[in-house]
Amino acid sequence: MSLPKVFMTQRIQDVGMSILEGRVDLTLWSEDGRPDPEAVMRDLPYADGLIMTMGIAMDRSFFKMAERLRVASLYSVGYDNVDIKAATEFGVMVTNTPGVLTDATADTALMLMLMTARKARENEKIMREGGWTHWSPNQFVGKDLSGSVLGIVGFGDIGRAVAKRAAAFGMKVIYTGRSRKIEHEEQLGAEYLPLEELLKRSDFVSLNCALTNETSGLIGERELRMMKNDAVLINTARGAVVDQKALFMACSEGWIYGAGLDVYEKEPVPMDEPLLELENVVMMPHIGSAAKRSREGMARLAATNLVEALEGRVPPNLVNPGVLKEKRP
Ligand code: NAP
Repeated sequence: MSLPKVFMTQRIQDVGMSILEGRVDLTLWSEDGRPDPEAVMRDLPYADGLIMTMGIAMDRSFFKMAERLRVASLYSVGYDNVDIKAATEFGVMVTNTPGVLTDATADTALMLMLMTARKARENEKIMREGGWTHWSPNQFVGKDLSGSVLGIVGFGDIGRAVAKRAAAFGMKVIYTGRSRKIEHEEQLGAEYLPLEELLKRSDFVSLNCALTNETSGLIGERELRMMKNDAVLINTARGAVVDQKALFMACSEGWIYGAGLDVYEKEPVPMDEPLLELENVVMMPHIGSAAKRSREGMARLAATNLVEALEGRVPPNLVNPGVLKEKRP
């Protein structure tokens, strides 16, 4: 019997590759670089399964072209690049990798908070350039985390992991989201507030919500102007949650203290992006989950989800369970 035909955008960790061995007929679209769009178009109609390591837009026309596709296994927890309704209508199971990257991404949020608050980028630059000539009570001074209020937008796995870390730093946690999480409020000592209240009260705001139609552009000029002018904005969610032009104005004109960013409206960030010029903005190249154990966990889950689906079982991280009732048109 022939093995199901699977395409993978880029090579994943060995722990995932070994799960696929002997169970699928695998083709890599690229070892590590960006897959050639022509190869993707050419191969898509022959794919029974896909492992997608990067946020390629998977819209209705994508699923229409992927005539044989049964499963699209994402190597990410976010699935904002996928038209879930279309996938479901076309009978394609979509899976993701929740949980295994929670701690690494929450660590990234804390790192950005500390780096922005303590002017890590600016201070390190001064030191390397020989600007550290004497000790002074007023030089290199940033913001304290302890005693500050952290407002978390989106109290899911990562939002709550950020809250846990913030509590250890002596921060007061408030949060907002689509739904209240009473049991977690008690566990984490967090208070629920509507977004506007949260923005007005927070010294740090951490964005940890999924990108959806409701959260796209959630933080724009109006919201940034509501923040305290010594508040810090941290975004490890998705770039499109924030209006990047408004954020540039906010950081360059002093509406807020600064920002720590891991995600952007356009990735990779073009070198003419104005935010790159600002000293009070710390920017990382989408490294939220980029820690060894987390990435291995993502590879293991992505490969497991794929083979479970192709071998006729319900994959553990199925995003669109409605698909189980659908027949491909
Ligand atoms: P999760 O557990 O599913 O949490 C997502 C949260 O977003 C949920 O609590 C959800 O609310 C909330 N949400 C949805 N719509 C909202 C709205 N309109 N307003 C406010 N909150 C809303 O996922 P997670 O694992 O924490 O990941 C969160 C996001 O982080 C992912 O979707 C992904 O985009 C991003 N991420 C980034 C990186 C990185 O490398 N920077 C790594 C991992 C994840 P409910 O609880 O009410 O559903």
